[in-house]
Amino acid sequence: MSTLVLVVNTGSSSLKYSLVDADTGDELADGLVEQIGESSGAVTHRSGGEERRDEREVADHEAALRAALDAFDEHGPSLDEVDVRAVGHRVVHGGARFSSPALVDDDLVDAVTSLVPLAPLHNPANLEGLAVARKLFPDLPQVAVFDTAFHQTLPEHAYTYAVPRSWREEHQIRRYGFHGTSYAFVSRAAADLLDKPVEETNLVVLHLGNGCSATAVAGGRSVETSMGLTPLEGLVMGTRSGDLDPAVHAHLHRQLGWALEKIDGVLNKESGLKGLAGENDFRRLVQLRADGDEGARLAFDVYCHRIRKYVGAYYAVLGRVDAIVFTAGVGENSAAVRACSLAGLERLGIEVDESANGVGRITEPTRVSTDASEVAVLVVPTNEEWEIARQTMAVVGGL
Ligand code: ADP
Repeated sequence: MSTLVLVVNTGSSSLKYSLVDADTGDELADGLVEQIGESSGAVTHRSGGEERRDEREVADHEAALRAALDAFDEHGPSLDEVDVRAVGHRVVHGGARFSSPALVDDDLVDAVTSLVPLAPLHNPANLEGLAVARKLFPDLPQVAVFDTAFHQTLPEHAYTYAVPRSWREEHQIRRYGFHGTSYAFVSRAAADLLDKPVEETNLVVLHLGNGCSATAVAGGRSVETSMGLTPLEGLVMGTRSGDLDPAVHAHLHRQLGWALEKIDGVLNKESGLKGLAGENDFRRLVQLRADGDEGARLAFDVYCHRIRKYVGAYYAVLGRVDAIVFTAGVGENSAAVRACSLAGLERLGIEVDESANGVGRITEPTRVSTDASEVAVLVVPTNEEWEIARQTMAVVGGL
């Protein structure tokens, strides 16, 4: 029986899609519709080892999904000829309500809508994705897979901010955490590589992409994570500051008279590596640093220092650590970040093996620590599309 799932990830101005076999992870096609709502739209579709880019205007999210379906018709595989079982949607914020993936129906749409205040940048776009896919695939079951769900196992003392009761109870101010599908996938794959049941494995997982976060995973369950109410908290990211004194908002407001929205915008879009070095793409940052750029040097040092701080903190949270795991664009590709952020931690039983680490891009789960390293250091490529497809089939399998 087919286990093909169309995975859809809708952003405010983009729609990513992927046709994935939930059993094997094979990707039959994937693509990206960009610049939705602007005159300079484009559809990039990859299938059969070829990539085609079609520049066309894409008026809205419905036009975007229709453009993706046109690309399937034109370049294959035809969705009429393969047996697609379900549509799996990435939804960013599931609040405290969703601790697992869920079938999309009117109640779910209402619940995701009620969470918009917690994720004003992301949930409205995800809702667009749900609406247009339900319209264009009325006969297929649709499943929402939440970025926050994996972290619903956080203990109360880890998810609670020290703020007044009314903020916590009436406004749901607490730590939620994100990148959950990636953590679910990577934790299992890391345990497999260590040849241990995931239930007996303690990990510090570092998801370092455009957005970056760290999670302490004890026995397959998230027990601490660096992103909070929103994805702004924690590690230094491409354009987000990560941790900073919350009094910075009040200070800037007093000094410059800036509205909070403006400060929030700068912390989300103009900070992080971009704020430090004028460059948020890590590949180009590395190049600038190699060319002697002072801002890039500082950005790299701040980035690695923040990771190191979290590794130490999460070591203490877990008590015993089997492995530190690097994943996502930077984690999988940058030997320099792995080496720099873990340098000098031999006393904690962490020792990176220079030759295993320094082999450039790592595409398979790989151990990059020395044999003597008590804590393994692993690189495990993430595969969020496969995880969404798997979780989608787990929901619709019994339908
Ligand atoms: P997203 O969070 O959007 O899924 P990715 O996981 O794809 O992002 O990570 C994107 C980041 O990975 C970018 O900053 C990119 O520059 C970086 N990256 C990709 N390849 C390399 C590389 N070879 N060396 C260093 N950084 C890389």
